[in-house]
Amino acid sequence: MINKKELWNIVLSELEVSLSPANFKTWFANTSISEIKDNDSIVVISVPTNFSKNWLEEKYHKFILDAMQKEADNKIKKVIYSVNPPLADNKQGLRAVSMDKILKTAEPKIDQNKLNKKYNFDSFVVGSGSELAYAACLAVAKDNGKKYNPLFIYGGVGLGKTHLAQAIANKRLEENPNASVVYTNAEKFTNEFIHAITNKTIDGFKEKYRKINLFLIDDVEFMAGKERTQEEFFHTFNSLYEDDQQIVITSDRLPKAIPAFKDRLTSRLEWGLIVDISPPDFETRVAILRKKCKEKEINLNDNILRYLASNIQDNVRELEGALNKLIVYFEFHHMELDLERVKNILSTLKVEPKKVFVKPREIIKIVADFYGIDAEEMIGPSRKKEIAFPRQVVMYLMRKESGASFPLIGKEVGKRDHTTAMYAFEKIKKEVKKEGSTRKEIELIKQRIYNK
Ligand code: ADP
Ligand code: MG
Repeated sequence: MINKKELWNIVLSELEVSLSPANFKTWFANTSISEIKDNDSIVVISVPTNFSKNWLEEKYHKFILDAMQKEADNKIKKVIYSVNPPLADNKQGLRAVSMDKILKTAEPKIDQNKLNKKYNFDSFVVGSGSELAYAACLAVAKDNGKKYNPLFIYGGVGLGKTHLAQAIANKRLEENPNASVVYTNAEKFTNEFIHAITNKTIDGFKEKYRKINLFLIDDVEFMAGKERTQEEFFHTFNSLYEDDQQIVITSDRLPKAIPAFKDRLTSRLEWGLIVDISPPDFETRVAILRKKCKEKEINLNDNILRYLASNIQDNVRELEGALNKLIVYFEFHHMELDLERVKNILSTLKVEPKKVFVKPREIIKIVADFYGIDAEEMIGPSRKKEIAFPRQVVMYLMRKESGASFPLIGKEVGKRDHTTAMYAFEKIKKEVKKEGSTRKEIELIKQRIYNK
């Protein structure tokens, strides 16, 4: 006998890691397994509305079925969804919702090349923080002259790096469908490489990656600490570069801010043009929202858009997520949205401007991950610069972001004296005042702390 609750929890926990928190909450709140019948072969999932029934069937059915089969040794043959509406819903006489329109708010479909066609240059709103990156990407997409090779794009989470990288690939393929374009991310590249080693297909792997006209690799920071993958990437890089083929790389930080990158790789990455994307200003955020509304064929009042734009400031993905929720709500309940209602909806969905409380311990982990070093080593005795500097950053952030006292900071960071913590705080504070790499790194780390 399979335990209903347990099984559903397992499925949910798998879904949770593969969906954005917003999507997860929207579609899986108030769902459960109501019944497992016919000798454990049919699972009935209870959902609150017809709308979520359609949605789950349409978008998540395969995932749910697979996860269940995996868990229950393929015993489960069928999953069905049944609507158990809260009584009030029926009384309100909700209008049927057009699935088509709602699907537009979903993550867009992906083509065979794993390129998302919606990520193009027209759909990207240029602001002062992204002007240079945009121009460079467009030049790379159009030009075969390799003026900017490699093109290195860096910036915080959700600011459009993937969007621009794919825009390059899409445009190049549009202009020359026969071009050999490979878009991947460092995680996939790593996995593929490991797979090739295990299966002894490394020649095929090399072949594939050395015969490319345009190679785009997203989130290269993922390779930090993975030496063999870096090595292979280094060779791929050299071979393409020598053949005069274009390389585009994105990362959430500068190459030299990834200490676990080998020096020679770092210097390769610095050869071409490096551009950064910083968070859009208020006007640009409003313009982005307008554009997204237009894409989704929906009309929202300007004051609503301005409200969103003033409350969600550092992450375009979140901005879009909040907008999607409003649209879904609007479509579902079919009522006019006024500002008061918007504030209400957003607060129940917890996308309100949030004051997160960060625990000092979490800061240690995030900073260590950011610099690609081991957390224990970071708070240990080492005086090496690549360890000691991140350690000072930790102490600074503990004070600044979680308001910890200096004695507590000293204690958390390898039982040090409070004066060490004070010194570190003052030192980093001074550096942050300057327009330099420390400031940028701290900004990026803060994004990670608050975008968890
Ligand atoms: P990153 O790769 O930097 O984490 P993404 O490229 O995935 O960020 O962007 C997150 C979402 O925000 C995407 O849906 C993207 O289309 C959108 N987005 C980001 N910046 C812009 C922009 N300037 N104009 C339009 N959409 C944007
Ligand atoms: Mg990305």
